[in-house]
Amino acid sequence: MTDRVPDASLPALAASVDESRQWARLMGMATLGAIPEDGVNRAALTELDRQARRLLIEWAQEAGLTVSIDDMANLFLRHEGTDPAAEPVLTGSHMDSQPNGGRFDGIWGVVAGLEAVQAIREAGLTTRRPIEIVAWTNEEGGRFAPGCMGSMAWSGHSAPNTWDAVTDLNGITFRAALDEQLALEADLPRRPLGPVGPQRPVAYVEAHIEQGPRLENDLLDIGVVTGIQGSRWFVVDIKGRSDHAGTSPVSLRQDAVQDMVRAINALNTLTHDPSDVLRFTVGRIEVHPNTSNSVADHVRFTIDLRHPEADILREKGDAIAATVQSALQHCTATVTERFNALPTAFPALVPDAVEQAAHALGLRPLRMPSGAFHDAQFMVPVCPTGMIFVPSKGGISHHPSEYTSPGQLAAGTRVLAATLLELANR
Ligand SMILES: [Zn+2]
Repeated sequence: MTDRVPDASLPALAASVDESRQWARLMGMATLGAIPEDGVNRAALTELDRQARRLLIEWAQEAGLTVSIDDMANLFLRHEGTDPAAEPVLTGSHMDSQPNGGRFDGIWGVVAGLEAVQAIREAGLTTRRPIEIVAWTNEEGGRFAPGCMGSMAWSGHSAPNTWDAVTDLNGITFRAALDEQLALEADLPRRPLGPVGPQRPVAYVEAHIEQGPRLENDLLDIGVVTGIQGSRWFVVDIKGRSDHAGTSPVSLRQDAVQDMVRAINALNTLTHDPSDVLRFTVGRIEVHPNTSNSVADHVRFTIDLRHPEADILREKGDAIAATVQSALQHCTATVTERFNALPTAFPALVPDAVEQAAHALGLRPLRMPSGAFHDAQFMVPVCPTGMIFVPSKGGISHHPSEYTSPGQLAAGTRVLAATLLELANR
């Protein structure tokens, strides 16, 4: 590959990535929504989310970047290139967390983008192209399901009004929460939604914790992500009839819990995979009326199905509704698909740049797929895309004990900085 990062600039760039500044920022962010045991609960489009965004904006403006948001409240921080008309390189991730989440998932990718761009500037380096850092709205889907709404709308995967009627546990609609956010951030310049005109990026790079054990187990520094496995989410509603647990004969019941058990057993058979690659999860069950001495008249449960091969994900996912229906004995069911992200492979440009940057910095990289989905998945149709992983202690994420050391994070940010510098000077 030509246009490599000049070796002369790499040591200065690496030295300008400030490990303690980045760590202090992450710990500052972790106070916004702090929960016991070092956890974070910072849901999208909440007051805590807005506080985190204001903090980020403060740091970005101090660093000389300009700020804008779009109609999905995706937040952009822009470093100007020597050719301001050139298409930008885009990096970033998300700032929302799972309800019982940790201090690094998502937020590190945003803070790392800022640290990387600041390091480029503080090392006295320039880039021909602008670099933009994005914080995508509602990646986690913890408050409003599904996740990745900001990047799905931005990339054109889904219309921006797709989720207007989705409600959180308090009955607040996504549209109402988004409108509130946009009103409270009306002072921020508004940009058009999507990769339109000069906003279309030439590449997207997302830094993220691994959320799995491979890098730690193999004593490696950097995951060069080659693609993302596909995910399909479903909601199953089983309707029966409520009866008294003591007086109604079992044979006459329409017991929604019993039919749910039959449905899940049938789904376990459908999704059984001797190679243990297919991932089938029922993670949420709501029972009505949810009392110990009543037969349930309504059960709602979620299905999360993942596989790296599109054909298998399609075949198994398409069979879910019929499998549920044929398992029922006394009740009726509806199966609704809420999210469908087919597997993606990243083209060579960004993974190659990430791998070369890691080698040039003396780090140990590993090419690997991502088991979790990310905003990056939706960027693949827009531009060459890639991700940088850093090790996760014990492979744990979506939990307060999520941990990556300051040094491991700084190494990842150095790789990101070198990758951005290389891509932004192409
Ligand atoms: Zn994440």
